[in-house]
Amino acid sequence: MASKVILVTGASGLVGSAVQKVALEEHDVGDKWVFVSSKDANLESEAETMALFEKHKPTHVIHLAAMVGGLFRNLKFNLDFFRCNMKINDNVLHACFVHDVNKCVSCLSTCVFPDNITYPFDESNLHDGPPHDSNFGFAYAKRMLDVMNRAYNSQHKCTFTSVIPTNVYGPHDNFNLQDGHALPGLVHKGYLAKKENNPFVVWGTGSPRRQFIYSVDLARVIIWMLREYNEITPMIVSVGAEDEISIKEAAEMVVRAYDYKGKIVFDTSKSDGQFKKTASNELMRTYLPDFKFTPMEQAIQETVDWFVKNYDIARK
Ligand code: NAP
Ligand code: GDP
Repeated sequence: MASKVILVTGASGLVGSAVQKVALEEHDVGDKWVFVSSKDANLESEAETMALFEKHKPTHVIHLAAMVGGLFRNLKFNLDFFRCNMKINDNVLHACFVHDVNKCVSCLSTCVFPDNITYPFDESNLHDGPPHDSNFGFAYAKRMLDVMNRAYNSQHKCTFTSVIPTNVYGPHDNFNLQDGHALPGLVHKGYLAKKENNPFVVWGTGSPRRQFIYSVDLARVIIWMLREYNEITPMIVSVGAEDEISIKEAAEMVVRAYDYKGKIVFDTSKSDGQFKKTASNELMRTYLPDFKFTPMEQAIQETVDWFVKNYDIARK
C-alpha cells in the first residue's frame, strides 16, 4: 500500500506540470500521486471539492489551483480574482480539515506583499501594509490563505502551510499575450517576431525588476516542503536578491534563445506595474543551503524550445 496519497490541485498548469515531472522522477518512493485540474472538479464549488476529496482520500495535498494572470489581467479583474481565489482556498482547506489531511502546502506569490516596504522583504512582512493597487484582489485573497493556515493550526492543530514563489516560468505556462505573465508573453512575442520578421515589442519601459525562477526548481522545493517542512510560517522560494534582473534583461535572454536579430521596441504606453518586489530567500537558505537554481539562460532556452515544439497545443 502507498505510504502517502498526494493530491495535487492545479496540476495541468505551469507549476502543476512541473510537480508532475519531478514526481515521476521519484517514482521509486512509493507514494500515490493524484493530479487534478478543473476538469476533475470545479474547486469554486464546495460540493465538487468535497466529492473530489471523498473519491481520492488524500493524506497530503499540494494546492496550486487558482485564478492566475499577469499584470494586465489583474488590472481588469480585481473582483473576480478576489472572489474566485477566496472560494477555491476556503473549499480546499476546509476539505483538507474534514478529511484529516496530514499536511497541505498551498501557493502564495511575492506580488501579494505590501507595496510600500523596505527591500528585500521577508515572510514576516506579508501583512504589513496594502498590496500594489494593480492586483489587490488577488493579493488579499492569497494573504487570507496564510490567515486560514494559522487559524486551522491554532484551532485544530492542522499542518497547513504555504510557499511564496517569485515570478515563475517554464513549459506549460499560459503564453496568452493579454492574460499571461511577462516571461511567457515575451516568449510568445519572440516567436512571432522571429517568424514574421517583425520588431520584438516589450511592454512598458523594461526597467521594472523581477526575481525569476524556473517551474521545475520550484516543484522540487514544494515536494521537499511537503515531506520535510513542518512550520505554518510560509516560505519564500526565490533566487537571491542579487539575481534580480530587469524586464529588459529578461527580454534579451529570450531574444538570444531565439537567435533573433531584429529590433527590440519598448511600448511605454503599457503599464510598468510594480517597479520591484525584491524578496529575501534567507529562510529557504537556512533549510536548503545548497539548493541550486537552474541558470536562467538554460531554463529560458528549455522554455523556448518547449514552446516552439508544442506551439500548436500550448495555452495561448
Ligand atoms: P496556471 O498555469 O494558470 O494553472 C492554474 C491551475 O489551476 C490549472 O491547473 C487550472 O485548471 C486550475 N484551476 C483554475 N481554476 C480552477 C477551478 N475553479 N477549479 C479547479 N482548478 C482550477 O497557474 P500557475 O502559474 O501554475 O500557478 C499555480 C500556483 O502558483 C497558483 O496558486 C499561483 O498563484 C502560484 N504562483 C504562480 C506564479 C507565476 O508566476 N505563474 C508566481 C507565484 C505564485 P485548468 O487547466 O483545468 O483550467
Ligand atoms: P508582475 O510581475 O506580477 O507585475 O506581472 P507580470 O509577470 O505580468 O510582469 C509585468 C511586467 O512585465 C510589467 O513591467 C510589464 O510592463 C512587463 N512586460 C513586458 N512585456 C510583457 C508582456 O508581454 N506581458 C506581460 N504580462 N508583461 C510584460
